[in-house]
Amino acid sequence: MTVESNSILFEKTKTSAKLFEKACEVIPGGVTANIKYFAPHPLVMEKGKGSKLFDVDGNEYIDYLLCYGALILGHGHQKILDAVNHQLLEAGTTIFGTPHQLEVTMAEKLIDLYPSVEMVRYTNSGLEATLLAIRTAMAYTGKPKLAKFEGHYHGGYDQVLLSVNPEMDQSGTAQSPNSVPESRGIPDYYVENTIILPFNDLEATEQILRKHAHEIAGVILEPIQGGFIPAEQEFMAGLRRITKELDIVLIFDEVKTGFRVSIGGAQTNYGIKPDLTALGKVLGGGFPIGAIGGKREIMMISAPNSGRDILTAGAENANKEDVLFHSGTYNGHPTILAAGLATINVLEQEGTMEKLFSKTNTLRKQLENVYKNYGLEMQTIGMGSIFNIILAEGTIKNYRDMNKTNTKLRKEIDYELLKLGIYSKPLNRYSMSVVHTKEDIARTVEAHDEAIRRVLK
Ligand code: PMP
Repeated sequence: MTVESNSILFEKTKTSAKLFEKACEVIPGGVTANIKYFAPHPLVMEKGKGSKLFDVDGNEYIDYLLCYGALILGHGHQKILDAVNHQLLEAGTTIFGTPHQLEVTMAEKLIDLYPSVEMVRYTNSGLEATLLAIRTAMAYTGKPKLAKFEGHYHGGYDQVLLSVNPEMDQSGTAQSPNSVPESRGIPDYYVENTIILPFNDLEATEQILRKHAHEIAGVILEPIQGGFIPAEQEFMAGLRRITKELDIVLIFDEVKTGFRVSIGGAQTNYGIKPDLTALGKVLGGGFPIGAIGGKREIMMISAPNSGRDILTAGAENANKEDVLFHSGTYNGHPTILAAGLATINVLEQEGTMEKLFSKTNTLRKQLENVYKNYGLEMQTIGMGSIFNIILAEGTIKNYRDMNKTNTKLRKEIDYELLKLGIYSKPLNRYSMSVVHTKEDIARTVEAHDEAIRRVLK
């Protein structure tokens, strides 16, 4: 990517540039989450409507980032706005700070939709959900280590910010990957106590799990890596069998895949029941939320009525050591649950998911044709309403395969797409919403054609 070609984009986004410069004075790097940055500066958005985003310079974009997948109904869906307004008016407050009906209604809904979920606890983000799932696995088994897969992201904290995107010269062998820290400030403790597994390699995974079975509390994975590299069915079935045999809690991180690859998540498509599931993103209808759900026996470990919590007396005769302490001022936020329930309601209407998937497949096929016309090695991979554009041939099974794809060319095309009004963060996956239209798809395909033409010139 040359400086000049970047500057054409940034001619159109001068106000973004100015605001970003100001932001950099008061916010480290000008962004509130590191993933929001891209060079030379991210675009500052002002409005959203349906499938579109509008930036501070008045440019319009068809949005495929959709807040990293959260906005499955697009921007400002009327059903969500109505539900939130109704909830605020009816309740007369933003939050109760006590139990309330929607916590139970949503829990029942999740139990109904997710085959493995028998009980539910809420958090405020996907990160907190995976954190709670891991703590729960440790509390339940009494074992100290976690196993995670290379290339899998579970949120920004010490225990899982390991080998998400490691440099190849540090990452060890394919069959026995090293645990590589992805951030400053990660204590050696976590590097030593998080074991890294190779995704879609059952034999190597089994070997590592058997060797460390006595110390591994849980295995966490994205059932579909990055939301677009599916686990192979045989791999999934094997992982379920081995973890059960070795008394290791199997955790599906369905923060991305939940409600998106099927309304009941990847576990529904695979027909595999994890012990615990982490949810987020779509669950909040665009507001911050997370949840874990799973087996009653495991989930009950956080029930305060069977023990004492650290702050109040609770049951007199019980030990606080018997309970997993989980808390949060905003857990089970009623306004957010109202938005989430409204979202699920729309998704449950007959034909909605099917239409969403068929739209996604249409876009995928048409994009594949465009790239083929230019003689480029390209495939789309994904499931349901998420996919990614991979510039390489051959099966992509894991992080190491992804690393061999042509990300340089992909990035150049992505910057051209931004100029042409197609929004995603460069190199990101595509997420679809129920409100993307046929015209959006046609414009997107045309923009790809034009972007490739410009880049190849
Ligand atoms: N797990 C997965 C699979 C995710 O994709 C994400 C967010 N991208 C998280 C966890 C963390 O969720 P949040 O950003 O809501 O904390």
